[in-house]
Amino acid sequence: MTDPVKQPLHYIDGEFRSGIEGHAFETLNPSTNRVITEVAEGREADIDAAVAAARRAFDEGPWPRMPVKERAGYLTRIAEIMESSGDEVAQLEVMDTGLPIKQAKGQAARAAQNFRFFARMIQDLGGEAHRFGAEFLNYTIHKPVGVAGLITPWNTPLMLESWKIAPCLASGCTAVLKPAEWSPITASKLAELIAEADLPPGVFNVVHGFGESAGAPLVTHPGVDLISFTGETTTGKTIIRNGADTLKRNSMELGGKSPVVVFADADLDRAVDAAVFGVYSLNGERCTAGSRLLVEDSIYDDFVAAAGQRATGVRVGDPTDMSTELGPLIHPEHYERVVGYVESGKQEGRLIAGGERPGDLPDGNFLEATLFADVDRTARVFQEEIFGPVLVATRFSSTEEAIELANDVRYGLAGYVWSEDLTKAHNVAQSIDTGMVWINSQNVRDLRMPFGGVKESGMGREGGHYSFEFYCELETIHVALGKHHIPRFGA
Ligand code: NAD
Repeated sequence: MTDPVKQPLHYIDGEFRSGIEGHAFETLNPSTNRVITEVAEGREADIDAAVAAARRAFDEGPWPRMPVKERAGYLTRIAEIMESSGDEVAQLEVMDTGLPIKQAKGQAARAAQNFRFFARMIQDLGGEAHRFGAEFLNYTIHKPVGVAGLITPWNTPLMLESWKIAPCLASGCTAVLKPAEWSPITASKLAELIAEADLPPGVFNVVHGFGESAGAPLVTHPGVDLISFTGETTTGKTIIRNGADTLKRNSMELGGKSPVVVFADADLDRAVDAAVFGVYSLNGERCTAGSRLLVEDSIYDDFVAAAGQRATGVRVGDPTDMSTELGPLIHPEHYERVVGYVESGKQEGRLIAGGERPGDLPDGNFLEATLFADVDRTARVFQEEIFGPVLVATRFSSTEEAIELANDVRYGLAGYVWSEDLTKAHNVAQSIDTGMVWINSQNVRDLRMPFGGVKESGMGREGGHYSFEFYCELETIHVALGKHHIPRFGA
């Protein structure tokens, strides 16, 4: 049975189109693994067409040349349209990704907010100015780089796409989005909403398809100036390699295995709430998930028991139900991968909660909220990103050991520290090798702050004016105000 959803098409030069070679692929509903619809599958020729449109829009069109206020007006209009379609967009996201509807609505609202935020931010973007002696005034201006290839993953796809598209367009760049093949539907919906805002043709384009046949030609395309990528670390490395010949500017938001460090002096009730929410929300498919729980010895047993009890209570089920907390994983292939880690965890730790498919959910990619305790730092489930509802707990007996454990992975995206001793909390936060830390807090984002990771979690920062540093070139202008000395060669 096919659910009644319009076939997602490419969006190129202001038009919705099938693939030039007529290929298509199926997208599945993770609750049932039945086909929702066929999706236009792009290949190199479609990428060429989209890049040509984006190139024309950038080189000849009004977009990079119009007053910033006017461009910001388009973005605000997109935000308004998204807000009025929020429920529909959220429902499509639930159908295509299995995100629980309550969380999908939050993500849809955040996607709209991203457009509003960058529309405001671009208007406040200032340069640097220095008086150099009495004879010079030097200043910088921001100029859009050009055509951006935006390559996105399947977790919270709409929100992550908007997080790239909004600053990209605000800066005056034009874009070709290649959304993930497991979550294509809301990218085409987003194109519809952007089309409604009446942007000049070619400013924003979408080409669906697979990484190797659509993503790769975008990365190697000489007409593309920069690539903003969010996805797995291994894919990020391939993209950097493939973009080297055309000297692409890269922004890389990659994997994570973030620690939640809980000291005995923490507000333990709030720490349990945050730890449980932080790993099981968004179906555990969250790059900043706190997936390693590091707990001080003296409270370890009680804290793990409390977290286990809450994990057991997490409501797994139909993602269209407003009371569902944990929906199905995105795809049967990903499900098998996560289940493989759960099987490893059963050998590498002590199963406290979950570990199975819920008995009342025989179809779809459902998995219980799972917690393993007593996991050694060398374990696969401690070291590797699982990207599912799986939390591993490990004890520590000193602050030094907590920091050492926190840093003993190849990733460094986020971290969470819980202690009422703020001096200790700050010191630990500063000692964790990571892009971001939250102290006594769940993952609440301030969009002005830089977002990104260190080590194998990424390169570069997005968010606030940091996004514009990626999408803009800085040009320095030196102005002589007086008659400074000029050597007179050959005089
Ligand atoms: P993925 O790397 O498999 O795919 C991401 C995108 O890259 C998809 O659109 C895919 O088609 C494309 N792609 C694959 N191979 C390509 C190639 N050779 N050239 C160009 N494009 C290619 O990642 P995923 O499984 O979709 O997403 C999950 C991963 O994303 C996790 O590792 C997660 O941590 C990470 N992630 C990171 C952040 C962050 O901000 N750091 C945010 C969300 C997700």
